[in-house]
Amino acid sequence: MKALVKFAHEDGALEVRDVLVPEPVPGTVRVRVHTVGVCGSDIHMWHDSQSKSSKGVLPVTLGHESAGIVEAVGEGVEGWAVGDRVVCETAASICGVCALCRSGRYNLCPWREGYGLKRDGAMAEYVIAEPRVLHRIPEGVSFEEAAMTEPFSVAYNAVIERAGVKPGDLVVIQGAGAIGILALQIAQLAGAATTVVLGTDIDEHRLAKARELGADHTVNVSREDPAALIATLHDGLGADLVVDATGVSIALQTSMELVRPAGAIAKVGWGPQPLGFTLDPLVKKAVTLYGCYSHTWHTWESVLRLFSEKKLRPDLVLGGVYPIEQWEEAFGAMQRGDNVKSALRMPFGLEGDAR
Ligand SMILES: [Zn+2]
Ligand SMILES: [Zn+2]
Repeated sequence: MKALVKFAHEDGALEVRDVLVPEPVPGTVRVRVHTVGVCGSDIHMWHDSQSKSSKGVLPVTLGHESAGIVEAVGEGVEGWAVGDRVVCETAASICGVCALCRSGRYNLCPWREGYGLKRDGAMAEYVIAEPRVLHRIPEGVSFEEAAMTEPFSVAYNAVIERAGVKPGDLVVIQGAGAIGILALQIAQLAGAATTVVLGTDIDEHRLAKARELGADHTVNVSREDPAALIATLHDGLGADLVVDATGVSIALQTSMELVRPAGAIAKVGWGPQPLGFTLDPLVKKAVTLYGCYSHTWHTWESVLRLFSEKKLRPDLVLGGVYPIEQWEEAFGAMQRGDNVKSALRMPFGLEGDAR
């Protein structure tokens, strides 16, 4: 089968390879992938610019934002049948017995192995999954939309489960990439009174998308100082919540500047650069800083329900779907900012009747 494989720790060491179709061992199912989203982390894997802690074993098939159907059911699996439309959570493997797993916070299990990093992922015709990670795609939700469940779950976890945005809040989102744009939708849904999205020169197209999605304000921080705008909003004391969805450490400095006293910062973006500034504003303003990582069962079910009720609109952020052979175009369009999200379509998804 075709698979998009990272084969070395160097920039550009990624190619479509012909690999063996994986066998579903007892207790697992084999999913035939229809569509798989491209994540910012996949682009980092392409350039080998992922943070050190995210360097997995090679070779590895990328992809953790998949939607498809159950195609084969391994021995001992109950409740799933061939043909079921499913999405797979990212945590391909967890230990299941540590304190975090036992308390339902398995996204933080130290032994967790994610698809596309430590386990072969879904940018392939087939992927193996434990039933634990499967969710049914609701009626009326397409495979393309369903493939967006993972990034929306990242945003939902950050904005709702971690930071607990409240109706009436002023929410500033740093970073107009996929997670930033999805966090905007979640914050609006949760009743934020005012939303502001910050981007740079490269984000012009994505900032326009943010406005189209109803962001009250957007600021290109390469040209304008966002603090001047924030000072004119609500009571002028700053944002109740700043979501940092950038990949650069320095964004934390801006977050600390824009957040109000007793406000919160939800840090979703990763950036390996060391900090070159003081954290004193965190102390002086008594700010709560939330590290936000991944998501769990409930997050996925909530997002799928919101897709099904058309309260979240994954279709509005998916800029293009490409056959797996055109992965470079798909990745490039996201990197350049032309697409908020790109997705790859597997041969199954190209068969026409696979809806
Ligand atoms: Zn992702
Ligand atoms: Zn565990």
